Amino acid sequence: MKFTDVALAEPFQRALKKLKYETASPIQAEAIPVILDGKDLIGCAQTGTGKTAAFALPMLHRLLESAPPREQPTERVRGKRTSNKFQGPPRPIRALILAPTRELAAQISESLKKYGGATSLKHTVVFGGVSQVPQVRDLRWGIDTLVATPGRLLDLMTQGHINLSQLEILCFDEADQMLDMGFLPALKKIVAACPHDRQTVMFSATMPPEIRDLAEKWLTNPVSLQV
Ligand code: AMP
Repeated sequence: MKFTDVALAEPFQRALKKLKYETASPIQAEAIPVILDGKDLIGCAQTGTGKTAAFALPMLHRLLESAPPREQPTERVRGKRTSNKFQGPPRPIRALILAPTRELAAQISESLKKYGGATSLKHTVVFGGVSQVPQVRDLRWGIDTLVATPGRLLDLMTQGHINLSQLEILCFDEADQMLDMGFLPALKKIVAACPHDRQTVMFSATMPPEIRDLAEKWLTNPVSLQV
């Protein structure tokens, strides 16, 4: 399947052209239309199959198509700061991508930049093992998509820096690895903080019974893909 035959908005088509991606990989050909349609999806796919674009492109497309009018932060009036205190994020987090490691989270964040960099959509990434100060600062400016590892995300939620109550799309990448790393308790708390009527996408390299159980609990009538 050619990307030009996929119903992705113009900025994504331009980004794909620039990246010289012409043909969708099998997981992309199957997953993109499902996610664009707003359906839940559980996909069995390994790294290197193009799974990042398979979820990132349709997620960004959906966010862009239903983006509310953008209000710029009103931090400065006639060149002067109105207040040193930040007055709350200008927009809610609309999509969350969870990944097991900081390397994968950073890689997903890079992909979001490649695919959605020419749009008004903003994203940032949070992970553990580094200072949370710059992460909190980025969150305060307001982002549409957050990429996160579960532990740091939960810390920041507990401290009141992250609110997921307006979330529209939740994506788990490498779900099996997140369970292997002991993130299940954190994941449960994160999912409990998300609205029920969200779209949920889950990718996993393997499909042990634990993953199937979670998919049953957290996804609604998901389309199941194996590539
Ligand atoms: P991933 O499996 O998401 O880690 O992607 C593996 C690599 O393939 C990344 O370097 C992507 O930039 C690249 N890639 C993904 N989809 C395509 C495509 N349809 N055509 C060419 N390269 C791609």
